[in-house]
Amino acid sequence: MSALPATSREWHLVARPEGEPRPEDFALREAPVTAPPEGHILVRNHYFSVDPYMRGRMGVTPGYAYFPPYELGEVLGGHAVGEVIASNVPGFAVGDDVLHFGGWREYAEVPAEEATGIDAQSVPLTAYLSVLGMTGLSAYAGLFEIASFKKGDAVFVSGAAGAVGSQAGQLARLSGASRVIGSAGTDEKVKVLLEEFGFDAAFNYRTAPVAEQLEQAACDGIDVYFDTVGGDHLEAAISSLNEYGRVALCGAIAQYNDIEPPPGPRNLAEAIGKRLSLRGMIVTDHQTLLPRFTEDVSAWVRSGELTWRETVVQGIEKGTEAFLGLFSGDNTGKMIVRLDH
Ligand code: NAP
Repeated sequence: MSALPATSREWHLVARPEGEPRPEDFALREAPVTAPPEGHILVRNHYFSVDPYMRGRMGVTPGYAYFPPYELGEVLGGHAVGEVIASNVPGFAVGDDVLHFGGWREYAEVPAEEATGIDAQSVPLTAYLSVLGMTGLSAYAGLFEIASFKKGDAVFVSGAAGAVGSQAGQLARLSGASRVIGSAGTDEKVKVLLEEFGFDAAFNYRTAPVAEQLEQAACDGIDVYFDTVGGDHLEAAISSLNEYGRVALCGAIAQYNDIEPPPGPRNLAEAIGKRLSLRGMIVTDHQTLLPRFTEDVSAWVRSGELTWRETVVQGIEKGTEAFLGLFSGDNTGKMIVRLDH
């Protein structure tokens, strides 16, 4: 075993944000690195993921967190990929690539049962944080399990240039949707939706009311709404949904930084007459889909029919900047932090 580094830099939450998180709510600290105890491996992280759901774990906003809150002064946990540099457990060897949940840090000591060996020969390591990772599975579970997508459905996806949205839209297209419509926050992203991800129609939600633009894009209404945004998007979708329409309530990023709960969709009562189904989801409930998801998505990736984007921010120092960038739309596709070592 080669010499281990003496210290690892890691991001801690040091104050609970109220409203929009500020850089001073986080601190980059150093911690000692030691040889892994029995049953553990030591991983040198190459990339870690920053995700909107983490906002719910940081703050005081009630009702949005579906994982336990982060403790103040502890490492921000989340998905990361890296290479085993020391192992004290059979089944993992130095040099193995692994996915784990050790979070925003350079080196992570991980119990073997919380690490998954990954194959970085046919896809890049980052794919396990994006197209073949948690966000990919969210798109797959949300569309097929939660929204019960079926061939011929017209589908609207919000946050469509993001990690989950871009994949949900493409999965719908590849599975026989009659029309796939997406919304995003810039004209450049709208162009990516149309030209790269194969959406049939797309609009910039910042340039005109969502309801107006959706109605125009969906002349025959929609059957499925994949919600990652909430707020005006959800309200617009309810108006455009056809009878027996289905909504996958995957995320509501427009309200994660709200201090007071926002007013609900004013038109919710339309759901009664239209017999709509609105169903929440949490990706971790859908682990049993993993083999089918991996097989389907890998095949589409291999054939080139499904593409994905990543916005890779360089350097652990930029960890919080990358996270905060999710709320200002700095990313196209999955937001990932790359570590320089
Ligand atoms: P993402 O879409 O890659 O990144 C966030 C995007 O949200 C930004 O790029 C930005 O794009 C958009 N955004 C930010 N503030 C907005 C606002 N006020 N109004 C409209 N759009 C806004 O993130 P992701 O990882 O794919 O996650 C997408 C959503 O799914 C999030 O709500 C997340 O919490 C949710 N999610 C849920 C589960 C689950 O298990 N339920 C699992 C994964 C993700 P624009 O430039 O287009 O504004």
